[in-house]
Amino acid sequence: MSKVYDVVILGAGPGGLAAGLYAGRARLSTLIIEKGQDGGQIAITDEIENYPGQMLEEESGPSLIARMTEQCKKFGCDRVSDTISSVELEGPVKKLVGRKGEYEGKTVIIATGAYPRPIGCKGEQDYMGRGVSYCATCDANFFEDLEVFVVGGGDAAVEEAMYLTKFARKVTIIHRRNELRAAKSIQEKAFKNDKLFFMWDSVVEELGGDELLQKMIVRNVKTGELTTYEADEDDGLFGVFGFIGRVPNSDLFKDSGLTMDEKGYIPTDDDMHTNIPGVFAVGDIRVKSLRQVVTAAADGAIAATQAEKYINELD
Ligand code: NAP
Repeated sequence: MSKVYDVVILGAGPGGLAAGLYAGRARLSTLIIEKGQDGGQIAITDEIENYPGQMLEEESGPSLIARMTEQCKKFGCDRVSDTISSVELEGPVKKLVGRKGEYEGKTVIIATGAYPRPIGCKGEQDYMGRGVSYCATCDANFFEDLEVFVVGGGDAAVEEAMYLTKFARKVTIIHRRNELRAAKSIQEKAFKNDKLFFMWDSVVEELGGDELLQKMIVRNVKTGELTTYEADEDDGLFGVFGFIGRVPNSDLFKDSGLTMDEKGYIPTDDDMHTNIPGVFAVGDIRVKSLRQVVTAAADGAIAATQAEKYINELD
């Protein structure tokens, strides 16, 4: 018979880890399940300058998250590395079934976040890891002194493009409109960066090459004109980084009775309750207006506090 935890947290990004900290500190028996590395999207973010109090020059997503993980350990959270394939969320004991085992909890906090949206062009899948990437922090050093293209026009695209200029010879942002969505403060920095260029009103149609990414066809959305870019012969490849938003990690909950919106995000009330009693959702998986580390962490703190209240009312 497996242990029934007070709180089972699914996902160890900022939302899940903040929930772990608050649940552990409240002396609730707490299990955090994560299938990959801790941090979620922040694990692949180089610069964090908008988390309150974070002004350390050398702080990155991974270094901030490492301290959050350590804090959960300090307050006694158990950890499991597993991929959950099915869930039973209704009823007083919730069950999560993974590849390695089954886990039970009186409450579940869903913190599964989101993943990068694919560019959606022909050839993208074939060149993943061979020129196509969605993580500048992970892969920038493979493009030292090479040419790189970044697809997207939001905060992530522009910030990560600036990071890539520290490695690549030239970085070009390909954006489908003629105006960036990124915050003005980020745009100001970008327009001053002399290694950063812009290809406006353009979308990537196709990626190709031999073993490595060497060819890209771009379409101008206003004129319909197609332009082919080929890798410099001496380089042998170029990079294409996609930063066009996120898709929620919520497929797992499709038949669980959990309410989701048309995009797969989970609606909650202000206290992180979902439609199922004892089940909470935090961070980027929620329907919300601002998906940031600070809002995910706040969600996690609220959910853990509400989980404690829910458990007290059960007894
Ligand atoms: P985002 O703000 O949703 O921007 C996505 C960008 O990709 C937009 O410019 C969009 O174009 C473009 N796009 C979407 N679908 C596309 C498609 N199919 N083909 C081509 N382009 C497409 O996403 P994000 O930049 O990943 O940011 C997500 C959230 O995280 C935002 O709330 C953002 O503020 C936050 N964030 C904040 C920071 C920071 O504050 N430092 C850093 C990173 C992310 P349109 O503009 O035409 O719609």
